[in-house]
Amino acid sequence: MLEPQQPPYERERRARPEQHSLLFGNRILDSLPPKEAERLAPAMRRVFFQRDQTIVRPGEPIIFLHFPVDVFAWSWTETTETQRPTSVLTVGHRGVVEWNRVLATGRGNTCATVISPGAAWRLPIDAFEQTQPLPTSPLRRLLLRFANATILNAACRLACNAEHNIDQRLARWLLWVADECGRMEFAITHQQIAEIAAIRRPSVSLALSQFQRSGLVRSQHGRLRVLQPERLEKIVCPCYWFILNNADGVFKNESGA
Ligand SMILES: [Zn+2]
Repeated sequence: MLEPQQPPYERERRARPEQHSLLFGNRILDSLPPKEAERLAPAMRRVFFQRDQTIVRPGEPIIFLHFPVDVFAWSWTETTETQRPTSVLTVGHRGVVEWNRVLATGRGNTCATVISPGAAWRLPIDAFEQTQPLPTSPLRRLLLRFANATILNAACRLACNAEHNIDQRLARWLLWVADECGRMEFAITHQQIAEIAAIRRPSVSLALSQFQRSGLVRSQHGRLRVLQPERLEKIVCPCYWFILNNADGVFKNESGA
């Protein structure tokens, strides 16, 4: 009988909170060659975002790139009929907020809003364009890879929403948010989980209360703590590992690229 395959990213995810002694604390920036990071550093400014703060709105010119350190934000768009926010991307220390900028879009096409407050590195778009003019420029290349992973993961989430049950999808989101925040406790409300996960709010509250009774999480006063990630990994659907693989794949093979 075959042994169940161990998820290849399990060890890395567990270890990540202890690995935050990096230069910037954002994985894209910390994946840059040292000389490139030194070249960009003078143009960077560390900024702090409050809960519910809007980073960019649809139609606004993109004048900065923001690289989260411990802020967790989401990009969303309204569907035309229901005015319901639809999640496009949720992003923390492995990503960048205005990722569509590298696809030659000069203006925001989604609204980016902070869920869990924290810090980010801000890079003016002029400095980005001047220092990263080519598709092979190190930071631009990383952002293109991030954009590719984002599109793949959006497609996976669509399939997941159709195929997998609420417990599996909720476990996927909780593990993902913990990964992106780099910590097991973060600020998030049931309503925000419902919106980013495309699950009805009553179903979120019901599933979370069951998770809480089972000792998997603790949820109170707009904060959530993942208590037993290894048990959530037994509940989560395979989409989580696919998505994590894509997210981590952004940073692979860069040394030889
Ligand atoms: Zn799934």
